[in-house]
Amino acid sequence: MARPIRATISAPALRHNYAQAKAAAPRSRVLAVVKANGYGHGLDRVARSLGPVVDGFGTLEIEGAVRLRESGFAGEIVLLEGFFEASELAVIAGARLATSVHSEEQLRMLHASPPPTPIDIYLKINTGMNRLGIAPRAAKGALDRIRESGAAKSITLMTHFANADGPAGVAEAMRRFEEATQGLALPRSLANSAAIFAHPETHADTVREGVALYGATPFADRSAEQLGLKPVMTLTSQVIAVQELEPGDTVGYGSTFRCDRAMRIGVVACGYADGYPRHAPSGTPVVVGGVRTKTVGRVSMDMITVDLKPVSHARVGTPVTLWGEGLPIDEVAVASGTVGYELMCAVMPRVPIIEVA
Ligand SMILES: *Cc1c(COP(=O)(O)O)cnc(C)c1O
Repeated sequence: MARPIRATISAPALRHNYAQAKAAAPRSRVLAVVKANGYGHGLDRVARSLGPVVDGFGTLEIEGAVRLRESGFAGEIVLLEGFFEASELAVIAGARLATSVHSEEQLRMLHASPPPTPIDIYLKINTGMNRLGIAPRAAKGALDRIRESGAAKSITLMTHFANADGPAGVAEAMRRFEEATQGLALPRSLANSAAIFAHPETHADTVREGVALYGATPFADRSAEQLGLKPVMTLTSQVIAVQELEPGDTVGYGSTFRCDRAMRIGVVACGYADGYPRHAPSGTPVVVGGVRTKTVGRVSMDMITVDLKPVSHARVGTPVTLWGEGLPIDEVAVASGTVGYELMCAVMPRVPIIEVA
């Protein structure tokens, strides 16, 4: 039998989480964000599952966007980071992609080498994230320049929030956005997952659902379950060895874990080369044989070690859930000092995928 690690990807859960965003933002179009290979779930797989139901897709990688179009998807596909060189404008026009325009350099490219046919443009305004975006005071000037270029088939006003998930909230960003766009009769797109669920005043014409689509929470203080989301990816493996240890024995590289009692330790076929976080400390939750227990010792390349005390029935071959159905990815992320986003994006190509249609 092959090494037992698997990632099971549920298409019904994806469609459910998309429907949750539609229910939260009932008057808006909902773009399914599929950058980074569908947050690690597989761009083509996610597109196949959602294509028949979504209003559109948002992504960053132009090759994937073109492939999505060639696969027959007829709706909107938005390049959220825009283009990086002028030669991409012809590709964007050819595949009927929409693109964000967030910088002076991009405005210059639009003028110097306009696309062969007009394209759909999302003009991105910086409301405090200070990564991408035109300064609010320069927004109307940028809009004029896009119009003068003749490159735009449509223009949507866009921003991305720095604090939609946290206590600072969106009020200041909304104030800046409204000031910058006052009087402009153009469609608007502001909300990511956090704003979809926490800030209905941001919904406007088009929202952009990323992490919530995959069943993880964007919030520190509201679980995915509380948001009505279902896990899309379940990472499972098996116990491949059992060690009976004495008090004082240690486990793993660096001997960082020392038994304070006689312990049964399970060795699980899953390590950082599968995408499990190496910085997950002893005590990170894991489910063995349907019972919740904890990791002990360092995560190594191909294995983790787990305490079998609560699972007396565990033996070689006992199933293990690393995250997903039965153990929220967000709990593993919190224990590891990161977010669900990073864990799901990091699952490695060597992990075989099982699709649930
Ligand atoms: C990634 C991304 C999103 C989705 O964010 P989530 O927090 O995953 O919902 C939305 N908008 C833009 C511009 C993005 O880059």
